[in-house]
Amino acid sequence: MKSIGCWFIGRWFNKLKSRDKANSSKKEATNNGKEGSKAVTSEEAPSNVTKQKVAAAKQYIENHYKEQMKNLQERKERRNILEKKLADAEVSEEEQNNLLKHLEKKETEYMRLQRHKMGADDFEPLTMIGKGAFGEVRVCREKKTGHVYAMKKLKKSEMLRRGQVEHVKAERNLLAEVDSNCIVKLYCSFQDEEFLYLVMEYLPGGDMMTLLMRKDTLTEDEARFYVGETVLAIESIHKHNYIHRDIKPDNLLLDRYGHMKLSDFGLCKPLDCSNLHEKDFSLGNNLSGALQSDGRPAAPRRTQQEQLQHWQRNRRMLAYSTVGTPDYIAPEVLLKKGYGMECDWWSLGAIMYEMLVGYPPFYSDEPMTTCRKIVNWRTHLKFPEEAKLSPEAKDLISKLLCNVDQRLGTKGADEIKVLCGVFNSELLDLVHNGITK
Ligand code: ADP
Ligand code: MG
Repeated sequence: MKSIGCWFIGRWFNKLKSRDKANSSKKEATNNGKEGSKAVTSEEAPSNVTKQKVAAAKQYIENHYKEQMKNLQERKERRNILEKKLADAEVSEEEQNNLLKHLEKKETEYMRLQRHKMGADDFEPLTMIGKGAFGEVRVCREKKTGHVYAMKKLKKSEMLRRGQVEHVKAERNLLAEVDSNCIVKLYCSFQDEEFLYLVMEYLPGGDMMTLLMRKDTLTEDEARFYVGETVLAIESIHKHNYIHRDIKPDNLLLDRYGHMKLSDFGLCKPLDCSNLHEKDFSLGNNLSGALQSDGRPAAPRRTQQEQLQHWQRNRRMLAYSTVGTPDYIAPEVLLKKGYGMECDWWSLGAIMYEMLVGYPPFYSDEPMTTCRKIVNWRTHLKFPEEAKLSPEAKDLISKLLCNVDQRLGTKGADEIKVLCGVFNSELLDLVHNGITK
Protein backbone atom coordinates (compact mmCIF):
# COMPACT_ATOMS: atom_id res chain seq x y z
CA MET A 1 0.00 0.00 0.00
CA LYS A 2 2.96 2.30 0.57
CA SER A 3 3.72 2.73 -3.11
CA ILE A 4 0.39 4.49 -3.51
CA GLY A 5 2.36 7.20 -1.78
CA CYS A 6 1.58 10.83 -2.33
CA TRP A 7 0.03 10.40 -5.71
CA PHE A 8 -2.12 13.46 -5.86
CA ILE A 9 -1.66 14.90 -2.44
CA GLY A 10 2.07 15.37 -2.94
CA ARG A 11 1.26 17.36 -6.04
CA TRP A 12 -1.32 19.46 -4.21
CA PHE A 13 1.23 20.19 -1.59
CA ASN A 14 3.85 21.29 -4.12
CA LYS A 15 1.34 23.31 -6.09
CA LEU A 16 0.13 24.91 -2.89
CA LYS A 17 3.66 25.91 -1.92
CA SER A 18 4.51 27.34 -5.32
CA ARG A 19 1.17 29.13 -5.60
CA ASP A 20 1.51 30.72 -2.19
CA LYS A 21 5.04 31.79 -3.13
CA ALA A 22 3.75 33.22 -6.40
CA ASN A 23 0.92 35.00 -4.60
CA SER A 24 3.19 36.62 -2.07
CA SER A 25 5.65 37.83 -4.71
CA LYS A 26 2.72 39.16 -6.76
CA LYS A 27 1.46 41.05 -3.74
CA GLU A 28 4.89 42.47 -3.05
CA ALA A 29 5.20 43.60 -6.65
CA THR A 30 1.83 45.33 -6.55
CA ASN A 31 2.62 47.05 -3.30
CA ASN A 32 5.94 48.28 -4.57
CA GLY A 33 4.31 49.60 -7.69
CA LYS A 34 1.55 51.54 -5.93
CA GLU A 35 2.87 53.96 -3.44
CA GLY A 36 0.73 54.34 -0.42
CA SER A 37 -1.44 51.36 -1.31
CA LYS A 38 -2.65 49.40 1.65
CA ALA A 39 -0.13 46.74 2.51
CA VAL A 40 -1.50 43.22 2.21
CA THR A 41 -0.77 41.75 5.55
CA SER A 42 0.18 38.18 6.22
CA GLU A 43 -3.02 37.93 8.24
CA GLU A 44 -5.14 37.73 5.08
CA ALA A 45 -7.44 34.74 5.52
CA PRO A 46 -6.66 31.71 3.31
CA SER A 47 -9.32 30.71 0.78
CA ASN A 48 -11.56 27.69 1.33
CA VAL A 49 -9.71 25.78 -1.36
CA THR A 50 -6.42 26.43 0.42
CA LYS A 51 -7.96 25.34 3.71
CA GLN A 52 -9.21 22.13 2.10
CA LYS A 53 -5.79 21.45 0.62
CA VAL A 54 -4.13 22.02 3.96
CA ALA A 55 -6.63 19.71 5.66
CA ALA A 56 -6.02 17.02 3.00
CA ALA A 57 -2.24 17.35 3.38
CA LYS A 58 -2.55 17.16 7.16
CA GLN A 59 -4.74 14.08 6.90
CA TYR A 60 -2.26 12.47 4.51
CA ILE A 61 0.71 13.12 6.76
CA GLU A 62 -1.16 11.90 9.81
CA ASN A 63 -2.26 8.73 8.02
CA HIS A 64 1.26 8.16 6.75
CA TYR A 65 2.79 8.31 10.22
CA LYS A 66 -0.03 6.34 11.78
CA GLU A 67 0.57 3.64 9.18
CA GLN A 68 4.33 3.70 9.87
CA MET A 69 3.79 3.33 13.61
CA LYS A 70 1.37 0.47 13.01
CA ASN A 71 3.87 -1.30 10.75
CA LEU A 72 6.63 -0.89 13.29
CA GLN A 73 4.41 -2.24 16.05
CA GLU A 74 3.41 -5.23 13.92
CA ARG A 75 7.03 -5.92 13.10
CA LYS A 76 7.88 -5.92 16.81
CA GLU A 77 4.97 -8.26 17.51
CA ARG A 78 6.11 -10.69 14.82
CA ARG A 79 9.57 -10.77 16.42
CA ASN A 80 8.10 -11.31 19.90
CA ILE A 81 5.99 -14.19 18.66
CA LEU A 82 8.97 -15.86 17.01
CA GLU A 83 11.12 -15.33 20.14
CA LYS A 84 8.42 -16.92 22.31
CA LYS A 85 8.03 -19.86 19.96
CA LEU A 86 11.78 -20.40 19.88
CA ALA A 87 12.01 -20.21 23.66
CA ASP A 88 9.32 -22.91 23.96
CA ALA A 89 10.90 -25.10 21.32
CA GLU A 90 14.05 -27.11 21.87
CA VAL A 91 16.31 -25.09 19.60
CA SER A 92 19.99 -24.29 20.15
CA GLU A 93 20.99 -20.68 20.77
CA GLU A 94 22.84 -20.54 17.46
CA GLU A 95 19.80 -21.84 15.60
CA GLN A 96 17.62 -19.27 17.40
CA ASN A 97 19.91 -16.43 16.30
CA ASN A 98 19.88 -17.67 12.73
CA LEU A 99 16.08 -17.80 12.63
CA LEU A 100 15.76 -14.32 14.11
CA LYS A 101 18.29 -12.99 11.59
CA HIS A 102 16.29 -14.66 8.80
CA LEU A 103 13.12 -12.94 10.01
CA GLU A 104 14.83 -9.53 10.06
CA LYS A 105 16.16 -10.09 6.55
CA LYS A 106 12.68 -10.92 5.28
CA GLU A 107 11.22 -7.88 7.04
CA THR A 108 13.79 -5.60 5.37
CA GLU A 109 13.12 -7.15 1.99
CA TYR A 110 9.38 -6.64 2.50
CA MET A 111 9.93 -2.97 3.29
CA ARG A 112 12.14 -2.53 0.24
CA LEU A 113 9.45 -4.09 -1.94
CA GLN A 114 6.88 -1.75 -0.48
CA ARG A 115 9.07 1.23 -1.33
CA HIS A 116 9.57 0.03 -4.92
CA LYS A 117 7.77 2.36 -7.28
CA MET A 118 5.41 0.26 -9.34
CA GLY A 119 4.71 0.93 -13.01
CA ALA A 120 2.68 -0.57 -15.84
CA ASP A 121 5.80 -2.54 -16.92
CA ASP A 122 5.66 -4.56 -13.71
CA PHE A 123 2.45 -6.21 -14.91
CA GLU A 124 1.61 -8.49 -17.79
CA PRO A 125 -1.87 -7.68 -19.12
CA LEU A 126 -4.19 -10.66 -19.58
CA THR A 127 -7.91 -10.87 -20.40
CA MET A 128 -10.12 -7.80 -20.57
CA ILE A 129 -12.93 -8.06 -18.00
CA GLY A 130 -14.66 -4.70 -18.23
CA LYS A 131 -14.88 -1.67 -20.38
CA GLY A 132 -16.06 1.57 -18.89
CA ALA A 133 -16.51 5.20 -19.72
CA PHE A 134 -12.85 6.09 -19.12
CA GLY A 135 -10.91 3.01 -20.01
CA GLU A 136 -10.74 -0.68 -19.37
CA VAL A 137 -10.33 -3.25 -16.63
CA ARG A 138 -8.02 -6.19 -17.29
CA VAL A 139 -6.83 -9.19 -15.37
CA CYS A 140 -3.05 -8.85 -15.12
CA ARG A 141 -0.17 -10.75 -13.61
CA GLU A 142 2.60 -9.14 -11.60
CA LYS A 143 5.75 -10.27 -13.40
CA LYS A 144 7.92 -10.62 -10.30
CA THR A 145 5.53 -12.57 -8.09
CA GLY A 146 3.08 -14.14 -10.54
CA HIS A 147 0.18 -12.75 -8.46
CA VAL A 148 -2.99 -11.97 -10.36
CA TYR A 149 -4.76 -8.60 -10.01
CA ALA A 150 -7.42 -6.53 -11.76
CA MET A 151 -5.96 -3.38 -13.34
CA LYS A 152 -8.22 -0.43 -14.09
CA LYS A 153 -6.67 1.86 -16.68
CA LEU A 154 -8.14 5.35 -17.03
CA LYS A 155 -7.39 7.75 -19.85
CA LYS A 156 -6.30 11.05 -18.31
CA SER A 157 -7.34 13.27 -21.23
CA GLU A 158 -10.84 11.77 -21.19
CA MET A 159 -11.20 12.41 -17.46
CA LEU A 160 -10.02 15.98 -17.82
CA ARG A 161 -12.34 16.56 -20.75
CA ARG A 162 -15.32 15.41 -18.72
CA GLY A 163 -14.27 17.16 -15.54
CA GLN A 164 -14.02 13.91 -13.61
CA VAL A 165 -10.59 14.37 -12.00
CA GLU A 166 -12.06 14.99 -8.55
CA HIS A 167 -14.11 11.80 -8.82
CA VAL A 168 -11.09 9.71 -9.69
CA LYS A 169 -9.18 11.17 -6.77
CA ALA A 170 -12.12 10.27 -4.53
CA GLU A 171 -12.16 6.73 -5.89
CA ARG A 172 -8.46 6.19 -5.35
CA ASN A 173 -8.51 7.75 -1.88
CA LEU A 174 -11.48 5.74 -0.75
CA LEU A 175 -10.01 2.48 -1.98
CA ALA A 176 -6.70 3.23 -0.27
CA GLU A 177 -8.22 4.45 2.99
CA VAL A 178 -11.02 2.03 3.72
CA ASP A 179 -9.76 -1.35 4.80
CA SER A 180 -12.87 -3.50 4.78
CA ASN A 181 -13.74 -7.00 3.68
CA CYS A 182 -16.72 -5.53 1.82
CA ILE A 183 -14.70 -3.20 -0.41
CA VAL A 184 -12.47 -4.20 -3.29
CA LYS A 185 -8.87 -3.79 -2.10
CA LEU A 186 -6.48 -1.45 -3.88
CA TYR A 187 -2.87 -2.66 -3.99
CA CYS A 188 -1.24 0.27 -5.68
CA SER A 189 -1.83 3.12 -8.07
CA PHE A 190 0.48 4.89 -10.50
CA GLN A 191 0.37 6.88 -13.69
CA ASP A 192 2.23 7.49 -16.93
CA GLU A 193 1.88 10.22 -19.54
CA GLU A 194 -1.44 8.95 -20.84
CA PHE A 195 -3.12 6.80 -18.18
CA LEU A 196 -3.86 6.39 -14.50
CA TYR A 197 -3.74 2.85 -13.17
CA LEU A 198 -5.51 1.29 -10.21
CA VAL A 199 -4.26 -2.19 -9.32
CA MET A 200 -6.96 -3.96 -7.32
CA GLU A 201 -7.63 -7.41 -5.99
CA TYR A 202 -9.18 -9.54 -8.71
CA LEU A 203 -12.67 -10.83 -7.95
CA PRO A 204 -13.29 -13.81 -10.22
CA GLY A 205 -17.00 -14.28 -9.42
CA GLY A 206 -18.21 -11.66 -11.91
CA ASP A 207 -20.58 -8.83 -11.13
CA MET A 208 -24.13 -8.80 -9.78
CA MET A 209 -25.48 -7.44 -13.08
CA THR A 210 -24.31 -10.58 -14.89
CA LEU A 211 -25.64 -12.82 -12.12
CA LEU A 212 -29.06 -11.16 -12.31
CA MET A 213 -29.16 -11.43 -16.08
CA ARG A 214 -28.36 -15.11 -15.85
CA LYS A 215 -30.87 -15.92 -13.14
CA ASP A 216 -33.76 -13.53 -13.98
CA THR A 217 -34.76 -13.33 -10.31
CA LEU A 218 -33.31 -14.50 -7.01
CA THR A 219 -35.18 -16.28 -4.25
CA GLU A 220 -35.86 -14.21 -1.13
CA ASP A 221 -33.20 -16.19 0.76
CA GLU A 222 -30.58 -15.44 -1.88
CA ALA A 223 -31.63 -11.79 -2.07
CA ARG A 224 -31.45 -11.48 1.71
CA PHE A 225 -27.85 -12.69 1.66
CA TYR A 226 -26.75 -10.20 -0.99
CA VAL A 227 -28.80 -7.36 0.50
CA GLY A 228 -27.17 -8.10 3.88
CA GLU A 229 -23.70 -7.96 2.34
CA THR A 230 -24.53 -4.75 0.48
CA VAL A 231 -25.70 -3.21 3.79
CA LEU A 232 -22.32 -4.02 5.34
CA ALA A 233 -20.45 -2.57 2.34
CA ILE A 234 -22.48 0.66 2.34
CA GLU A 235 -22.08 0.94 6.11
CA SER A 236 -18.30 0.66 5.84
CA ILE A 237 -17.97 3.48 3.31
CA HIS A 238 -20.38 5.70 5.24
CA LYS A 239 -18.24 5.19 8.34
CA HIS A 240 -15.46 6.88 6.38
CA ASN A 241 -17.77 9.70 5.35
CA TYR A 242 -17.97 8.66 1.74
CA ILE A 243 -21.19 8.56 -0.24
CA HIS A 244 -21.14 6.24 -3.25
CA ARG A 245 -24.16 7.68 -5.13
CA ASP A 246 -23.81 5.13 -7.91
CA ILE A 247 -24.43 1.79 -6.23
CA LYS A 248 -25.77 -0.59 -8.86
CA PRO A 249 -25.45 -4.27 -9.70
CA ASP A 250 -22.52 -3.62 -12.11
CA ASN A 251 -20.50 -2.28 -9.18
CA LEU A 252 -21.19 -5.20 -6.84
CA LEU A 253 -18.53 -7.85 -7.49
CA LEU A 254 -18.34 -11.43 -6.26
CA ASP A 255 -15.18 -13.02 -4.90
CA ARG A 256 -14.23 -16.65 -5.30
CA TYR A 257 -16.19 -17.62 -2.18
CA GLY A 258 -19.36 -15.94 -3.47
CA HIS A 259 -19.06 -12.99 -1.08
CA MET A 260 -19.87 -9.61 -2.46
CA LYS A 261 -17.71 -6.50 -2.49
CA LEU A 262 -18.40 -2.96 -3.57
CA SER A 263 -16.23 -1.34 -6.24
CA ASP A 264 -16.09 1.59 -8.66
CA PHE A 265 -16.07 4.67 -6.47
CA GLY A 266 -16.58 8.06 -7.87
CA LEU A 267 -16.67 7.68 -11.60
CA CYS A 268 -20.23 8.79 -11.89
CA LYS A 269 -21.48 9.37 -15.36
CA PRO A 270 -23.14 12.76 -15.72
CA LEU A 271 -26.78 12.97 -16.75
CA ASP A 272 -28.45 16.17 -17.82
CA CYS A 273 -31.34 16.48 -15.39
CA SER A 274 -32.13 20.15 -15.93
CA ASN A 275 -35.63 19.27 -17.16
CA LEU A 276 -36.60 17.14 -14.20
CA HIS A 277 -39.40 18.18 -11.90
CA GLU A 278 -41.32 16.60 -9.11
CA LYS A 279 -45.06 16.37 -9.59
CA ASP A 280 -44.58 15.71 -13.28
CA PHE A 281 -47.97 14.27 -14.25
CA SER A 282 -47.10 13.60 -17.89
CA LEU A 283 -46.18 10.02 -17.08
CA GLY A 284 -49.51 8.82 -15.78
CA ASN A 285 -49.77 5.58 -13.87
CA ASN A 286 -48.64 3.17 -16.49
CA LEU A 287 -45.89 0.67 -15.69
CA SER A 288 -43.93 1.62 -18.78
CA GLY A 289 -44.91 5.30 -18.70
CA ALA A 290 -47.86 6.87 -20.50
CA LEU A 291 -45.71 9.35 -22.42
CA GLN A 292 -42.14 9.22 -23.61
CA SER A 293 -39.90 12.19 -22.88
CA ASP A 294 -40.59 13.56 -26.35
CA GLY A 295 -44.34 13.38 -25.78
CA ARG A 296 -44.97 10.30 -27.92
CA PRO A 297 -47.37 7.77 -26.36
CA ALA A 298 -45.49 4.88 -24.78
CA ALA A 299 -45.99 1.20 -25.44
CA PRO A 300 -48.99 -0.40 -23.73
CA ARG A 301 -48.52 -1.88 -20.26
CA ARG A 302 -46.20 -4.88 -20.33
CA THR A 303 -46.51 -8.04 -18.29
CA GLN A 304 -43.71 -8.74 -15.81
CA GLN A 305 -42.22 -11.26 -18.25
CA GLU A 306 -42.29 -8.83 -21.17
CA GLN A 307 -40.78 -6.05 -19.09
CA LEU A 308 -38.05 -8.45 -17.91
CA GLN A 309 -37.16 -9.45 -21.46
CA HIS A 310 -37.09 -5.82 -22.55
CA TRP A 311 -34.84 -4.88 -19.65
CA GLN A 312 -32.45 -7.73 -20.33
CA ARG A 313 -32.16 -6.80 -24.02
CA ASN A 314 -31.16 -3.26 -23.04
CA ARG A 315 -29.13 -3.95 -19.94
CA ARG A 316 -25.57 -4.36 -21.27
CA MET A 317 -25.95 -1.53 -23.71
CA LEU A 318 -27.01 0.73 -20.82
CA ALA A 319 -24.09 -0.42 -18.67
CA TYR A 320 -21.51 0.36 -21.34
CA SER A 321 -23.06 3.62 -22.55
CA THR A 322 -21.31 6.81 -21.55
CA VAL A 323 -24.45 8.01 -19.81
CA GLY A 324 -24.92 4.82 -17.78
CA THR A 325 -28.16 3.62 -16.31
CA PRO A 326 -30.01 5.97 -13.96
CA ASP A 327 -32.23 3.17 -12.62
CA TYR A 328 -30.71 3.05 -9.13
CA ILE A 329 -30.09 6.74 -8.50
CA ALA A 330 -32.04 8.41 -5.67
CA PRO A 331 -34.55 11.16 -6.53
CA GLU A 332 -32.74 13.79 -4.45
CA VAL A 333 -29.53 13.12 -6.42
CA LEU A 334 -31.35 13.47 -9.74
CA LEU A 335 -33.06 16.66 -8.60
CA LYS A 336 -29.71 18.05 -7.41
CA LYS A 337 -31.43 19.10 -4.21
CA GLY A 338 -28.49 18.33 -2.02
CA TYR A 339 -28.21 14.83 -0.74
CA GLY A 340 -26.64 12.80 2.03
CA MET A 341 -25.74 9.22 2.74
CA GLU A 342 -29.40 8.19 2.53
CA CYS A 343 -29.12 8.16 -1.27
CA ASP A 344 -27.10 4.92 -1.09
CA TRP A 345 -29.92 3.23 0.86
CA TRP A 346 -32.35 4.17 -1.91
CA SER A 347 -30.06 2.40 -4.41
CA LEU A 348 -30.10 -0.67 -2.16
CA GLY A 349 -33.92 -0.65 -2.32
CA ALA A 350 -33.84 -0.46 -6.13
CA ILE A 351 -31.34 -3.33 -6.33
CA MET A 352 -33.38 -5.47 -3.93
CA TYR A 353 -36.47 -4.83 -6.07
CA GLU A 354 -34.57 -5.94 -9.19
CA MET A 355 -33.31 -9.08 -7.44
CA LEU A 356 -36.87 -10.18 -6.67
CA VAL A 357 -38.84 -8.76 -9.62
CA GLY A 358 -36.25 -9.10 -12.41
CA TYR A 359 -35.95 -5.47 -13.49
CA PRO A 360 -35.48 -2.26 -11.52
CA PRO A 361 -38.55 -0.43 -10.14
CA PHE A 362 -38.59 2.55 -12.50
CA TYR A 363 -37.33 0.92 -15.67
CA SER A 364 -38.46 2.50 -18.89
CA ASP A 365 -37.41 2.40 -22.54
CA GLU A 366 -35.66 5.73 -22.20
CA PRO A 367 -33.32 6.87 -19.41
CA MET A 368 -35.00 10.28 -19.15
CA THR A 369 -38.39 8.63 -18.59
CA THR A 370 -36.79 6.50 -15.87
CA CYS A 371 -35.50 9.69 -14.21
CA ARG A 372 -38.99 11.21 -14.32
CA LYS A 373 -40.48 8.11 -12.76
CA ILE A 374 -37.86 8.12 -10.01
CA VAL A 375 -38.59 11.68 -8.95
CA ASN A 376 -42.30 10.83 -9.06
CA TRP A 377 -41.79 7.51 -7.28
CA ARG A 378 -45.01 7.83 -5.28
CA THR A 379 -47.10 7.16 -8.38
CA HIS A 380 -44.71 4.77 -10.09
CA LEU A 381 -43.53 2.33 -7.44
CA LYS A 382 -45.57 -0.84 -8.06
CA PHE A 383 -45.00 -4.48 -7.17
CA PRO A 384 -46.24 -6.75 -9.97
CA GLU A 385 -48.60 -9.45 -8.68
CA GLU A 386 -46.80 -12.09 -10.75
CA ALA A 387 -43.56 -11.55 -8.79
CA LYS A 388 -45.27 -12.84 -5.60
CA LEU A 389 -43.15 -10.84 -3.16
CA SER A 390 -43.63 -11.58 0.54
CA PRO A 391 -45.15 -8.75 2.63
CA GLU A 392 -41.81 -8.45 4.50
CA ALA A 393 -39.83 -7.98 1.29
CA LYS A 394 -42.31 -5.37 0.02
CA ASP A 395 -42.16 -3.62 3.37
CA LEU A 396 -38.35 -3.40 3.35
CA ILE A 397 -38.24 -2.17 -0.26
CA SER A 398 -40.92 0.43 0.45
CA LYS A 399 -38.99 1.70 3.44
CA LEU A 400 -35.91 2.19 1.26
CA LEU A 401 -37.64 3.61 -1.82
CA CYS A 402 -39.26 6.56 -0.08
CA ASN A 403 -38.70 10.13 0.99
CA VAL A 404 -35.37 10.91 2.67
CA ASP A 405 -36.84 11.68 6.10
CA GLN A 406 -38.71 8.39 6.27
CA ARG A 407 -36.02 6.30 4.61
CA LEU A 408 -34.56 3.40 6.53
CA GLY A 409 -30.83 3.81 7.18
CA THR A 410 -31.14 7.52 7.90
CA LYS A 411 -30.41 6.72 11.55
CA GLY A 412 -27.67 4.22 10.67
CA ALA A 413 -27.39 0.81 9.04
CA ASP A 414 -28.64 -1.01 12.15
CA GLU A 415 -32.20 -0.01 11.28
CA ILE A 416 -31.95 -2.04 8.08
CA LYS A 417 -30.14 -4.93 9.71
CA VAL A 418 -32.97 -5.19 12.23
CA LEU A 419 -35.52 -5.29 9.44
CA CYS A 420 -33.55 -7.93 7.53
CA GLY A 421 -33.57 -9.77 10.84
CA VAL A 422 -37.37 -9.58 11.02
CA PHE A 423 -37.56 -11.97 8.19
CA ASN A 424 -34.61 -14.11 9.31
CA SER A 425 -32.15 -13.15 11.99
CA GLU A 426 -30.09 -16.34 11.61
CA LEU A 427 -29.23 -15.50 8.03
CA LEU A 428 -28.14 -12.02 8.96
CA ASP A 429 -25.74 -13.55 11.49
CA LEU A 430 -24.44 -15.77 8.76
CA VAL A 431 -23.79 -12.73 6.64
CA HIS A 432 -21.92 -11.08 9.49
CA ASN A 433 -19.80 -14.04 10.40
CA GLY A 434 -19.33 -15.35 6.90
CA ILE A 435 -17.79 -12.12 5.74
CA THR A 436 -15.05 -12.15 8.35
CA LYS A 437 -13.48 -15.29 7.01
P1 ADP B 1 -16.54 1.76 -14.71
O1 ADP B 1 -16.22 3.02 -13.99
O2 ADP B 1 -16.12 1.86 -16.12
O3 ADP B 1 -17.95 1.29 -14.51
P2 ADP B 1 -15.71 -0.46 -13.02
O4 ADP B 1 -14.69 -0.27 -11.95
O5 ADP B 1 -17.13 -0.61 -12.56
O6 ADP B 1 -15.54 0.68 -14.11
O7 ADP B 1 -15.32 -1.75 -13.87
C1 ADP B 1 -16.07 -2.18 -14.98
C2 ADP B 1 -16.34 -3.68 -14.89
O8 ADP B 1 -15.08 -4.40 -14.80
C3 ADP B 1 -17.12 -4.11 -13.64
O9 ADP B 1 -18.52 -4.02 -13.84
C4 ADP B 1 -16.65 -5.55 -13.45
O10 ADP B 1 -17.38 -6.43 -14.27
C5 ADP B 1 -15.19 -5.51 -13.92
N1 ADP B 1 -14.28 -5.30 -12.77
C6 ADP B 1 -13.91 -4.12 -12.24
N2 ADP B 1 -13.08 -4.28 -11.19
C7 ADP B 1 -12.92 -5.61 -11.04
C8 ADP B 1 -12.19 -6.44 -10.10
N3 ADP B 1 -11.45 -5.89 -9.14
N4 ADP B 1 -12.28 -7.78 -10.23
C9 ADP B 1 -13.04 -8.32 -11.21
N5 ADP B 1 -13.76 -7.62 -12.11
C10 ADP B 1 -13.71 -6.27 -12.04
MG1 MG C 1 -18.94 0.44 -12.87
